[in-house]
Amino acid sequence: MPRFTELETYDVRFPTSLDLDGSDAMNTDPDYSAAYLIVRTDAGDGLEGHGFAFTIGRGNDIQTAAIEALRDHVIGLDVDATLDDLGGFWRSLVHDSQLRWLGPEKGVMHMAIGAVVNAVWDLAAKRAGVPLWKLLSDLTPEQIVDLVDFRYLTDALTPDEALEILRAATPGRASREAQLHDRGYPAYTTTPGWLGYDDAKLVRLCHEAVAEGFTQIKLKVGADLDDDIRRMRLAREAVGPDIRIAIDANQRWDVADAITWVEALAPYDVWWVEEPTSPDDILGHAAIAAAIAPIRVATGEHVQNRVVFKQLLQARALSVLQLDSARVAGVNENIAILLLAAKFGVPVCPHAGGVGLCELVQHLSMFDYVAVSGSVEDRVIEYVDHLHEHFLDPVVIKDGHYVTPLRPGFGAEMDAETLADYRYPGGKIWTDLTSSKESHK
Ligand SMILES: [Mg+2]
Repeated sequence: MPRFTELETYDVRFPTSLDLDGSDAMNTDPDYSAAYLIVRTDAGDGLEGHGFAFTIGRGNDIQTAAIEALRDHVIGLDVDATLDDLGGFWRSLVHDSQLRWLGPEKGVMHMAIGAVVNAVWDLAAKRAGVPLWKLLSDLTPEQIVDLVDFRYLTDALTPDEALEILRAATPGRASREAQLHDRGYPAYTTTPGWLGYDDAKLVRLCHEAVAEGFTQIKLKVGADLDDDIRRMRLAREAVGPDIRIAIDANQRWDVADAITWVEALAPYDVWWVEEPTSPDDILGHAAIAAAIAPIRVATGEHVQNRVVFKQLLQARALSVLQLDSARVAGVNENIAILLLAAKFGVPVCPHAGGVGLCELVQHLSMFDYVAVSGSVEDRVIEYVDHLHEHFLDPVVIKDGHYVTPLRPGFGAEMDAETLADYRYPGGKIWTDLTSSKESHK
């Protein structure tokens, strides 16, 4: 009977702040980072589960320590029994009576659980010999519902309603899977729009995005209104009237500021405004949504759990739901969020970028298309062209679409060399940076 024998962690950081890649109105100097883990078993098949929580630098050590705190919840478990009951495994982590105090179900500990849950799903998909989206898409509606904890959700979504949604999508599964293999899944790009880029770079990257087949781009906004009006005008001139332009304020505004700012940019045709204010402010999002309609409000990358998503949907506070593969407690909670979105008829356009988020989240959207919502209408996955080269199975974008991944697993696995070189603070990249700073003193 194989058991889990090891849970190894890595504090991995990339010095992205040097080029202002990833810069926005709130996150001005991010060093994209992963609190990373590998789980191993004594099954003798050589298969490992890889997962991570995404952070942007300082604090990645705290996030890594939180993953370490879950070691005893994993080591010694029967592998087959655990993989046969991943709903039960999720509950055993999320409902730990002492760790729960650190949330409940939010923040560093919840993200650590997400990293571990995702690593175990990575192992499950590798053992099954299929990519994660396919593993999930082949489950029966009953098996999918078993993965979800409906505690706190039943006033909006009951297990029976979830079953109904999943059963309704069953007949079309095979044809949608064939379409995924044919066309992939639609993407949009944030690459042109980082706040730290000058106008010439913005315009050049806008032209490149259109030439590469993207039909939607996104601009970071919220630092200075005059700058944003100029950047939005330049972007609109560069891409023409037919390309959707979303804007992303990364939580910069109070409610009234958000409304004023979006109204000032509205003449350039804004497709959605993302994270206009605090991710915890459900009523604030609802007020903004009512004031700026028909411009859509999008949020989710910092929404801490399925309960807040439920309320955002109930309050009609968002029109675009942006789940994140590494913010909530992993695959299981994201299945709950996909089902909630389907119940309310709201399209899911996941947050990605960061490091490894594109690699992970494509699996969730493809599962959603095959087995849950059954639609790609107004649905796009964010794409950012950073750091993919560090992954064993990097995403591939073709004609503005994610090419459907076929390699077994969840796509989270980084190269061994990257794990060694970018380990903080002792990896080669960081010791070289420190010594070059010393020599410039
Ligand atoms: Mg964003």
